[in-house]
Amino acid sequence: MKVYYDKDADLSIVRGMNVAIIGYGSQGHAHAQNLTDSGVNVTVGLRKNGASWSKVEAAGIKVAEVDAAVKGADLVMILLPDENIPEVYANNIAPNIKQGATLAFAHGFNIHYNQVIPRADLDVIMVAPKGPGHTVRSEYLKGGGVPSLIALHQDASGNAKQVALSYAAANGGTKGGVIETNFREETETDLFGEQAVLCGGAVELVKMGFETLTEAGYAPEMAYFECLHELKLIVDLMYEGGIATMNYSISNNAEYGEYVTGPEVINEQSREAMRNALKRIQTGEYAKMFILEGKTNYPSMTARRRLNAAHPVEIVGAQLRGMMPWISKNKLVDQSKN
Ligand code: NDP
Ligand code: MG
Ligand code: MG
Repeated sequence: MKVYYDKDADLSIVRGMNVAIIGYGSQGHAHAQNLTDSGVNVTVGLRKNGASWSKVEAAGIKVAEVDAAVKGADLVMILLPDENIPEVYANNIAPNIKQGATLAFAHGFNIHYNQVIPRADLDVIMVAPKGPGHTVRSEYLKGGGVPSLIALHQDASGNAKQVALSYAAANGGTKGGVIETNFREETETDLFGEQAVLCGGAVELVKMGFETLTEAGYAPEMAYFECLHELKLIVDLMYEGGIATMNYSISNNAEYGEYVTGPEVINEQSREAMRNALKRIQTGEYAKMFILEGKTNYPSMTARRRLNAAHPVEIVGAQLRGMMPWISKNKLVDQSKN
């Protein structure tokens, strides 16, 4: 698979464009600040009464209402919550975007599932950093960049790939490495990874381990350290050197226990559940559920957030982290203000 680096991208392309970044949240603040620091002319598009407006002003970046930001732009990058994109696209972007402009996304969801159907004259690209927005910014500030994916949905100009690479370079992506995919593959693998492994899988694994220990009478503090706190140390080792490096670093006892118990806990039933999840993604059934959830003002997200907040692992966790202030220092604070 070809990996693109700085030398494969022509930064001057995006430096010659007026770029509108729509949204200033997790991804938006990072792209807007990185592109600005890379010498690109950026205007952030927002609603005037929202919380983000003053953050953009504080960062010294131009801000305008979405209609105005789009009107002046050669490239429009949409960095809004996925479920808000179709409405903003229909009301504010489609009526204002220039003929032949480039429309960009950081996730393929709305294109792949038919929620946004762009005009034929537009180039439609994806530049998707494979990391949270705050890491996209912090890696750039260190002189690096988060590895990114690019994809083309429409190449009306014949130059869409060069534009995507140029944007990725301005955002730091070609420091970490850029690979080309397509909207379908990015959307389906991203949804699967976050649901089955990274977010859904990891959270339920932690909660079930914590519940099993505390139900058996062990102290919640002990259960928290063993099932949640230490997960980071293990994941860091896998991140740095793969599974073998992690196994080299842990004790023989821990490694042997991994082989005995791992496949019993994550078993053929889990495989079946993962295949079901993938099917739900491939058939569009999950997308439909999520879109309806947004359209009905998040009934299930609201309830699940409330239930999670009341879970003992969260309550004991908050107390323990309060005793370890170095852990959360500079981490979960809102860096989009900076
Ligand atoms: P956020 O939830 O952080 O976006 C919030 C921003 O959107 C705020 O600035 C908010 O402004 C603005 N906004 C929301 N609704 C509207 C509206 N109707 N009109 C104008 N502005 C609005 O989004 P993310 O950064 O999490 O996600 C953006 C995209 O990036 C998505 O496609 C996502 O899938 C993708 N992505 C996200 C990653 C991440 O790390 N979060 C990783 C990779 C891709 P206000 O203050 O006014 O509410
Ligand atoms: Mg995702
Ligand atoms: Mg141990």
